[in-house]
Amino acid sequence: MQRRFTAPTALILALSLIVSAAGLRRRQAAVGDSASSALDATEEVLRSVSRLRGLKPKRSVRSNLKTRDEIKESVIRDMAESTTPEEFAASEKTLAKLGLVPRDFRLRDYMVSLLREQVAGFYEPKTQEFFLAAWIPIAEQKTVIAHELTHALQDQHFNLRRFEKWPKGDSDAELAAHALIEGDATVTMILYDYDQNKGQMSLPGPDSPADDESKYPVLARAPAVLRESLQFPYINGAIFVQAVLKNRSWPGLNGSYDKLPASTEQIMHPEKFLQGEGPVKIETGSLLPALGGDWKLLDSDVNGEFGFQLLLSEFIGKADSRKASEGWGGDRYASYQEKKTGAVMIAQYSTWDTARDAEEFFNAYCERTEKRYKSARPAPPETGGGQERRLYETEEGLVLIELRDQNVIIIEGAQTREQTARLREQLWQSRKDQAAR
Ligand SMILES: [Zn+2]
Repeated sequence: MQRRFTAPTALILALSLIVSAAGLRRRQAAVGDSASSALDATEEVLRSVSRLRGLKPKRSVRSNLKTRDEIKESVIRDMAESTTPEEFAASEKTLAKLGLVPRDFRLRDYMVSLLREQVAGFYEPKTQEFFLAAWIPIAEQKTVIAHELTHALQDQHFNLRRFEKWPKGDSDAELAAHALIEGDATVTMILYDYDQNKGQMSLPGPDSPADDESKYPVLARAPAVLRESLQFPYINGAIFVQAVLKNRSWPGLNGSYDKLPASTEQIMHPEKFLQGEGPVKIETGSLLPALGGDWKLLDSDVNGEFGFQLLLSEFIGKADSRKASEGWGGDRYASYQEKKTGAVMIAQYSTWDTARDAEEFFNAYCERTEKRYKSARPAPPETGGGQERRLYETEEGLVLIELRDQNVIIIEGAQTREQTARLREQLWQSRKDQAAR
C-alpha cells in the first residue's frame, strides 16, 4: 500500500509509542535531568551505540531540541516536498473505496496530527542532524537519542539519502527498506536501554501500545490502516532484524543495506529474505481503454503481503487475514476515477506461491466483499461462472473476483457488465516478471 500515508520520507523518525513501550518499566529510575543536559550526553551515547551496533562513527553528530509545533512544521514541510495535494486526494479516494477510512477523511491533516503526537525525535539525512522532542519524559530522552544516533551511524555507513526519493508505485519494497532501517534502530535502542539499565529486554508487542487512549488519543482513534502502517517498520522491522542477526550477526545485517529486503513478505518471513525469495513484478498496463468513458488514473501501486493483510483484516478476523495473505507472490493494483460522477474503480492482479494459496486469498476476498458492501449479493454469472468466479452487485457498482491457477484478479466498482468484461479481459493479460528482485 502507499507508503505516503505511513510517514514522512526525508525524516527518519523515532515514535513515542515505540520508545515508551520499549522503556522496560523503569520509568522511576530517572531523576532530575533536563532535555538540554540529555543532549550534552550525545557524545557519550554515541560511544555506547557505536560499540553495541559495531559501527564506528565517521564524524560527530549535531543535535538539537524541537517543540511539538516545530516538529509539526518539519513534518508539514517534508510532506509538501514529497507528496502533492493531488496524490493525497488520490490516496484518500482509494482508501475510502476500499472501506479503510471514512469517505470524508482528510488524510494529510490526520497524518500531521498523528505525527505531531507521535514523533519523539527524528534524524534528517540532508543536514546530518538529529532533533529530540523537547516534551518527552526525561527517562526516555537517552533512549530516543540512542535510536537517532543509530540512524546517524547508518547514514554515515550506508547513506540514508538514497531512500528519500523512492520511485512511486513501489511502496511495498519501500516499506520493506524502511522496516530494515527502523528495525535496526529499534533493536539497537533496546540494546542500549538494556546496557544502561541492566533491565529486562523486551520488544513492544504488535497489539499493545496503541490501546493507551489517554496517552495517545490521536493514535488510538486512528483508522487501523494508518496505525498499523505507522507501526510496521518499528515492530515488524525489529523482529526481522533480530531474525537476521541470529542468522548472520551485525556484519551480516550490514550486508542487507546492499541487498535490501524487497517486500513486506520478506520482513514478515525473514527466512524468505535469507533464502532470497523475491517478489514477482506485475505489469497491468493502462486500463483506460477498457474503462471507456471519461476516467482518470488515481493511483497504481503494490499492496504486498502486509497491505493485503490490512485490506482483509478491516472486515474479517485477524488470524484468517494473516493466513490468507501468506503465500503472496506479487501484485499490482490501479485505481481510477470517473471524472463526472467521482465513482472509483480499483483493479487488482495478484499471484501466489501455489494454487492453494491463491484459492485461500480468493475465498477471503469474497468474504471481505460481502462484509464491505452492505448490499453485496452474488449476481448470477453470465457464462462459465463457478466457484472460481464471483460477481457481486453492490451499492457501489459491481465487484468481480476471479481465480485462475495461482492468480487472482479483482475488479471493484465497475459500472456495467460490459465494462467489467472488458476490464477482466485486459487484466488477465497482465505481465509477470519472475526474475525481479
Ligand atoms: Zn527511527
